[in-house]
Amino acid sequence: MALDHDLAGIFFADDYVIWGTAKALDRAVGFPDMALECFPDFVNLTSPREPHSRARRFEASSAPLADLGTALDQMSKEIDLQNIGAITTASIGPFEDGKSGLVEGGRIIKGARREGWDQGIDLYGAVKSEFERRIGSVPTIRCLGDTEAHVLGEHYLFRRSNSALAQNKRNAKQMGRDTVAYLMLDEGVGGAVFQRGLFVRGEASLELGHMPVYHRDNRLKPAPCFSHKYSCLEGTIGLPNLRTSWGMDSDEIAKLEYEHDLVQSIAFYIGQAVFQLSVFYAPTVILLGGRVMDHPDLLEMVQVCYELIASNSFDEEERVSLFPNYAAQYDTDEYIKRSTMPDTGVLGCLCWSYNCLDPEGKVAQLSAKRK
Ligand SMILES: [Zn+2]
Repeated sequence: MALDHDLAGIFFADDYVIWGTAKALDRAVGFPDMALECFPDFVNLTSPREPHSRARRFEASSAPLADLGTALDQMSKEIDLQNIGAITTASIGPFEDGKSGLVEGGRIIKGARREGWDQGIDLYGAVKSEFERRIGSVPTIRCLGDTEAHVLGEHYLFRRSNSALAQNKRNAKQMGRDTVAYLMLDEGVGGAVFQRGLFVRGEASLELGHMPVYHRDNRLKPAPCFSHKYSCLEGTIGLPNLRTSWGMDSDEIAKLEYEHDLVQSIAFYIGQAVFQLSVFYAPTVILLGGRVMDHPDLLEMVQVCYELIASNSFDEEERVSLFPNYAAQYDTDEYIKRSTMPDTGVLGCLCWSYNCLDPEGKVAQLSAKRK
């Protein structure tokens, strides 16, 4: 029996605003092992890299609050807004405190990368007043970072498409008790870590895209980003710097030979990032998404670079063992993966809406218990 309430999600991407709705199939199954009736409807099975029509989208403007209104206008033509039990947004950050968004509230601080967002926004407040104005009541509202929504959507698809694993106790760690790190490599670079059913945040949301990077040669020098003047991952391999320093966009880079200096350099920097995620979070799996990853050989090159960095073997004849040295990363095909689908962001919003929806209508606290 499907849950009566609708779940809703709005994902604010760089170019598009993507929204979707769904119902949960069985409320008895707790987050994050639940099933939504939309599975696998947010996945375009014939061409997985293309969006699915179920994820509605329109071009983003530089006025996010107007875009929010447009998304709700469109949504209200398909479902009754009164029936929404929980709605989750996902957007650029950083959020001003680590709890906001995950529980209640969600204010984005000044200085975000994108025009329209850079002066700071109380996104939670904006969603709340839209609902008050439209229907006179307010569903449960949550505001995630964009990479957080992606990691949830990827995690959900991974679990659902591997449901046979659930029968296998040895694979229990894959069923919500694992640690998934996600890196989005696109216009901006960001990341999120979803650990044993909870997001990793501190006093604010994480900003993994701004990890410092070092260089080996001068093929692609580390560069500063929009937000600060010292070289970081986003400044170096975000698409704006690849356009400026090499005059190429992601589709052109994807056609280069793997020996090309630029592709080699990008692989090296992503390998560094994977190494840093490994020493900070010791994840079960690291997922890499975004258009920078569109090069067909890049995933394998990143896997090799990571192994060379983690085994101190870049300029050595002989490889020593990895550091850190733990089992999950021995098989790099399993440890470092390309993330799958373009609409995992909005799917992740729906997952979080499910998590935060309380059947009694009370404000839900984080329901996932650490296991
Ligand atoms: Zn930076």
